[in-house]
Formats: sequence, C-alpha cells, structure tokens
Amino acid sequence: MITLKDINKTYDMGQASLHVLKGIDLHISQGEYVSIMGASGSGKSTLLNILGILDNYDTGAYNLNNVLIKDLSEKQAAYYRNEMIGFVFQSFNLINFKNALENVALPLYYRNISRKKRNVIAMEYLDQMGLRDWANHLPSEMSGGQKQRVAIARAIISKPKILLADEPTGALDSVTTLEVMKVMKELNENGLTTIIVTHEKSVADETKSIIHIKDGLIENVERR
Ligand code: ADP
Ligand code: MG
Repeated sequence: MITLKDINKTYDMGQASLHVLKGIDLHISQGEYVSIMGASGSGKSTLLNILGILDNYDTGAYNLNNVLIKDLSEKQAAYYRNEMIGFVFQSFNLINFKNALENVALPLYYRNISRKKRNVIAMEYLDQMGLRDWANHLPSEMSGGQKQRVAIARAIISKPKILLADEPTGALDSVTTLEVMKVMKELNENGLTTIIVTHEKSVADETKSIIHIKDGLIENVERR
C-alpha cells in the first residue's frame, strides 16, 4: 500500500539548510498498525506529512497504492488525500465555534452532501465514538479525550484507507490516552491502516510494529 524508497527531505532556510530525512526506506501493507517513535526533531512529523501528501520530498519515490506521489499538482494532491487519508493531530484541530456534530460533518460539506444527510451520517460516527450525547456541545465543553474522539470521527467520516495520527495522545492524560488507543485499535481491527507518531512507549506498545527513527533514518523496525 505504502512504499518509500530512499526518501530525502531538506528544509531550506535562506543561508542554512537542514537535511531532515536522509534516505527513508519503508513498506507498509494494507491493514497494518504501525507506530513511529524517535526523539524530538528526528523527522517524525516530516515523514508523516509526506505520507499524508501534505508536504513534498526532494528525492526518492513514494508509491501509494501504485500511484507515484511526486510533483503532484495541488489539485491532484488534494484528490488523493481526500480519497485515501484521514488525519488526527495532537491539538485536535477542531473548529471552536462549531459543535461536535458540525465538526464531524465538515468533510461531507466539501463533498456536496446535503446538510440533513451530513448530520445523519455524522451522528452515526459520533455514536461509534460513544459521543452521541455530546453532539451539540462545543469543543470547549469537552475533555481532551472527547475532543480527540470527535477529531477521529471527522477523520474517518470520508472513509479513508489510511489513518495518520501525529502524537494523538500527546495532550491527554493516561486515562483518556487509553480511551483513544482503544478507538484506534478497533478502527485498525476493522481494516483501517493506521500509523501513529508517538513519544510514549505505552502507546507504541499498542501497535503491531514500531518504527524507530533517529536523525532522519530508520534505525530499526520492531515487529511484534
Ligand atoms: P519531529 O516530529 O520528530 O519532532 P519534525 O519532522 O517536526 O521532527 O522536524 C525535524 C526537523 O526539521 C527539526 O529540526 C525541525 O525544527 C525542522 N523543521 C520541521 N519543519 C520545518 C520547516 N517547515 N522549516 C524548517 N525546518 C523545519
Ligand atoms: Mg513532530
């Protein structure tokens, strides 16, 4: 499903430049449940953003379902992103003035689905996350774990093939971390290829393989 061959990425910053990914080779099959661990600054988010077609790489090849993801137009990139990929972020990235239901329904708005239908579907996803009773609440009225489950519902409502999560439990306490990881596990068991960047060993231990990244290179992959 995902194949990276010798991926290099350098950030140019005027005078200086920073070689962040130094030849990443990686294969992830459909249905895998993978975590990426490494020190701060090792290139985890850069790698995840490339996988999510949010950012470009300089050299190498990224194949996603046999499509070479390279030098795509913004329109093509958005197409593959919308078809294939759901994102979850550490800081939830919910819209603060919209309630939980509206946040979850938002991706369907961009697919020209009627408001009534959007809301019905969004309610099903909220229900799946155990948040039916929270549909009318604003993010500011919810706990971190609830907000992250709203964000997960929003990420999967467009039926992506791959879920990418960048430190999804980084802002959560240990109890809500468990809640979120339980949801992740269930989604993976239902076939969603899931890739989680994390600092926490306890989170990585929930996944089926751990990719250790150091200074822009994959150190080793622990299959479990
Ligand atoms: P991680 O997620 O593992 O902490 P990142 O991939 O975010 O690491 O960053 C790797 C390195 O690249 C860091 O030194 C970071 O400061 C740098 N970096 C990240 N994004 C940019 C950017 N847009 N411009 C310049 N440098 C960046
Ligand atoms: Mg990061």
